[in-house]
Amino acid sequence: MYAEIVMIGTELLLGELVDTNANRLAKALRDIGLDLYYKTTVGDNEDRITEVLDSALDRSDVIITSGGIGPTVDDVTRQAVANATGRKLVYSTDLEAEIAARFRSFGRVMAENNKRQAYIPEGALPLSNPVGTAPCFLCEDLRGRGVVISLPGVPRELEYMLSKKVIPRLVERMGGAKVTKIRILRTCAVGESNVDRVIGDLMTSKNPTIGLAAHAGQTDVRITAKADTEAEADALIATLETEVRQRLGVAIYGVEKETVPEVIGRLLSEKNLQLGVIDTLTGGRLARGLIEAGFGDLITVNQHAIDVSAALQKAGLASPADARKADLRALALGLAEYVTPPDGVGVAMIGPFNDNLTFIALCGPRDMRLAEAGRNYQDSNYILSWLAMQGLDWLRRVVLGQLTSPADWNE
Ligand code: ATP
Ligand code: MG
Repeated sequence: MYAEIVMIGTELLLGELVDTNANRLAKALRDIGLDLYYKTTVGDNEDRITEVLDSALDRSDVIITSGGIGPTVDDVTRQAVANATGRKLVYSTDLEAEIAARFRSFGRVMAENNKRQAYIPEGALPLSNPVGTAPCFLCEDLRGRGVVISLPGVPRELEYMLSKKVIPRLVERMGGAKVTKIRILRTCAVGESNVDRVIGDLMTSKNPTIGLAAHAGQTDVRITAKADTEAEADALIATLETEVRQRLGVAIYGVEKETVPEVIGRLLSEKNLQLGVIDTLTGGRLARGLIEAGFGDLITVNQHAIDVSAALQKAGLASPADARKADLRALALGLAEYVTPPDGVGVAMIGPFNDNLTFIALCGPRDMRLAEAGRNYQDSNYILSWLAMQGLDWLRRVVLGQLTSPADWNE
């Protein structure tokens, strides 16, 4: 059984309205394991809605519409559903009486145009709507292709009708709900194409499915399983998760909603390590992330302007313009050593130098000393976030004892 949703409203197409109803509907269908294959958005136009519903009926079993069942001239969903399902639109005195009664209960008189809402495709099942005035309905296609269920656009009404009237009916039609479970494994600082290279072949799996989502220096691996019971879904996920973890290893920093700074803060705190930071590179993003995650008390930030030329000269080296990469690396390491607390880790992030070179250096537990060129620098939010993420990730790996030589760095 396949579902599809049709979102109706010209405001949606004009970008004036964020389509929260689609999100709500999608989640509700996911929760009962009813596969949603298409979502279409269409304006308040009878012909176009009819056309959309007609193709939807050709390919899906259940079509849920949102919007366009109010009393105004542009509310044409009723007519379009009648057209697509091959039915006449008929006036129902029962519905009229129901709408009038609803108005009376609000202490209002029903306006003439509300009578429009008493029209319904002939033979459709009215679903009374106690939280609004627009009656909803369920209409089987005359040619037996499927069923159209029409709900209001007002989110509060849609929510009520969906959870109270629609979902129970759909579960019955499906012969019982399925369980859909999602597991998110989070990676950082490896890049979507690298993750794809390593686990791409698993993406043809049908159940569970695997998908990737990339954002600001992170790539999430989403595993979705569908089964009759929660335990079966968990078991399906566990098998695939083991495989993914074997392949991605330490690149996975956490699961579900965990953030990189949260995980690193927790690691530092578990291992009783203080963190010293010099960061002239990312506008303070590395430290800020940790502070915002609630680990500010673990950090000493040395943010005084660092005169890199002076530091180089003092070390008997040339100015940054003609310093060799190795000299700059040594400088980064010197600074990391300088900020390393007696019982902790030091990180120095410096640059950009000529050729937009940047450096990240770390001094860790067990006398670990590492320095490497970070990403090429461009003064954009995106790159700065990436650099901060790279610094955090190396920090995480050093604390975990998983990063031991610069050769490991640019995997
Ligand atoms: P009404 O009886 O209020 O006219 P209706 O079923 O005709 O209900 P619409 O006129 O399409 O619904 O939408 C009513 C209001 O509901 C919109 O002005 C908008 O604020 C909200 N709405 C409609 N569609 C959506 C949507 N997809 N997501 C979020 N809000 C929506
Ligand atoms: Mg309306």
